[in-house]
Amino acid sequence: MKNTAKIGCLIAVGLIAGCGTQQSAVTNVNKTEMNPLLAEWTGPYGGVPAFDKMSLSDVKAALEKGMAINLIEIDAITINPAAPTFKNTIEAMERAGEELGRAFTYYGIWGSNMSSPEFRTIQAEMAPRISEFSSKISQNEKLFQRVKAVYDKSKINPLPADQQRVVQLTYENFAMEGADLNAADKKRYADINKELSSLYTSFANNVLADEENYVTYITKDQLSGLPESFVKSAAKAAADRGQTGKYAVLNTRSSMDEFLIYSDERALREKVWNTYYSRSDNGDTHDNNANIAQILKLRRERVKLMGYDNYAAWRLQNRMAKKPENAMDLMMAVWPAAIARVNEEVADMQKIADAISKTKITIAPWDYRYYAEKVRADKYNLNSDEVKQYLELGNLTQAMFFTAGELFNFQFTPVSKGKVPVFHPDVNVWEVTDKTSGKHIGLWYLDAFARTGKRSGAWATTYRSHTTFDGKKTVLASNNSNFVKPALGEPLLVSWDDATTFFHEFGHALHFFASDVKYPTLNSGVRDYTEFQSQLLERWLSTDRVINQFLKHHKTGQPMPAELLAKIRKASTFNQGFETTEFLSSALMDMKLHLADPNGLDPDKFERETLVSLNMPKEVVMRHRTPHFGHVFSGEGYATGYYGYLWADVLTADAAEAFAEAPGGFYDKDVAAKLVKYLFAPRNSMDPAEAYRLFRGRDASIDALMRDRGFAVPEKK
Ligand SMILES: [Zn+2]
Repeated sequence: MKNTAKIGCLIAVGLIAGCGTQQSAVTNVNKTEMNPLLAEWTGPYGGVPAFDKMSLSDVKAALEKGMAINLIEIDAITINPAAPTFKNTIEAMERAGEELGRAFTYYGIWGSNMSSPEFRTIQAEMAPRISEFSSKISQNEKLFQRVKAVYDKSKINPLPADQQRVVQLTYENFAMEGADLNAADKKRYADINKELSSLYTSFANNVLADEENYVTYITKDQLSGLPESFVKSAAKAAADRGQTGKYAVLNTRSSMDEFLIYSDERALREKVWNTYYSRSDNGDTHDNNANIAQILKLRRERVKLMGYDNYAAWRLQNRMAKKPENAMDLMMAVWPAAIARVNEEVADMQKIADAISKTKITIAPWDYRYYAEKVRADKYNLNSDEVKQYLELGNLTQAMFFTAGELFNFQFTPVSKGKVPVFHPDVNVWEVTDKTSGKHIGLWYLDAFARTGKRSGAWATTYRSHTTFDGKKTVLASNNSNFVKPALGEPLLVSWDDATTFFHEFGHALHFFASDVKYPTLNSGVRDYTEFQSQLLERWLSTDRVINQFLKHHKTGQPMPAELLAKIRKASTFNQGFETTEFLSSALMDMKLHLADPNGLDPDKFERETLVSLNMPKEVVMRHRTPHFGHVFSGEGYATGYYGYLWADVLTADAAEAFAEAPGGFYDKDVAAKLVKYLFAPRNSMDPAEAYRLFRGRDASIDALMRDRGFAVPEKK
């Protein structure tokens, strides 16, 4: 499972996508006095962002004016005396917000790539105003009535397929947020949302407080087994907290993880484990159990107003899974193999513990990482530093271009410095064209290096997406990473995981470039589907043609030896019992909590009883226990959606096998053509399940995923 790769990854999408030309109905905002951040993009390639003219002093005014223009455009739609049609309502909405979209491009760069205390002050001021602005559109009754009229009409007289899809997605976006309720229910709906938003904040703050306040201090004689780098940062962390001479084990995942892997002190491992997994479950002022019970109750009440049985049914209606039962079925199909593998892993670890431990111990949850690491060293003997010598960033970039050329017929050509403005000298730009026709497709920006003010991790985003409804717009996409810039003349060598992430994010960019949709809304993502394309792209890193041409030793130029690759592949199934079980237990809990009757629900008791009924192995704990499951309770982003990682993994494994089985393997032209046509180019213009069926000739099955993880494939009934 590549959870690590995925957690750092996010696709930024503008609030209101707008990509039309200057045909909007704006009459009373003077466009000649345009703020530079709102101005139309000029220059080569259909216009490019003026990253060389960005000034923080323009941001606030740009957002304010952009929002004002957008609201005027919306008003023009709602006061139109003509009966609602696709053209005068839906298409006009697709066109609106173009200026604001440009302002958001720059705002996003400051937020993610070039943040500063000055920017964060502006951000804190603008965030609630942006959210208020969005509500003004999503709760605009007149606008919704027009959308509904077009939608109702289209049910009787269907529109062309892509227009029908835009109408459906637009209508659902409104309806799912309660736009169709009567006045009294709308009021209750808004009150519930308000209460929920403070509960989410309280939940998140409680977790943060327990992460900051519970620090385990240890002394010099308790450092046995810990790596030098950990000891150094623990000494500094203690000194920062006024405990010079001691060592601080922080209550964060990375600190806890590393301590549990390496510390030889079993009693301390138990203490650190308990501290971490008790976050916001200590019965004190930062306990989250009451918050959870209230959140579940309010979520149920809110979706009941709209006629849904439970929150999961409401949430999943426009996901690929469609119904909670489908997500549950998938999870329960994988679960028995995962917990069976835990038993095998524990047996392996118990053998080592019996051999090296002075006293007889039974593997407990705080022993898992420690002994698993010993099993790993023993069984797999993989030296990550040796692997790095074959992974040089320039070569990896060429490997991605090669892959894009083979699968998508794309060619990447460097754009000479200065031709296209960039926001930092380290950003490089390539032109993407069709290899055969030479047709221009877009520009690819790469911001590869870490710097102060840049957020951590890796991500992909677009400055402009492909659309044709209002004249053809070409794609401006970017990839962003945090590689440490090497000294001049030194190679930049990266780990296997980081190389995989580099491919993953490039997969998002290819998904942007491959788009052939007509309307902006059809470029949107579906949460349990949109990681699939990028996860699939990761698979080309370890194909023979990439290895032999691009994974070369930075000194000798020799390609990565077959034995080393075999070790990497073998190690990929290592510890899958633990990883799958800790993930799935959280994902199952997320779903079951929202399917259960919330009246009188005691979250602690519910969690305990559910784990017993699932036969949860006692040596493993949920990756996120309920009291600190921020994905689900500090907002709604992943509520009843945590399963989505597994869903995308199933598609990834199944689609990869389509290539593996083809005559031309991963470079098979026919499968590649189907990949582009059905899985990449349509974006959200067709139902994802239908698109996948067209690619594979059937639905995805879990067998390939089970093989990937080294689990037994369930027998067919
Ligand atoms: Zn991703």
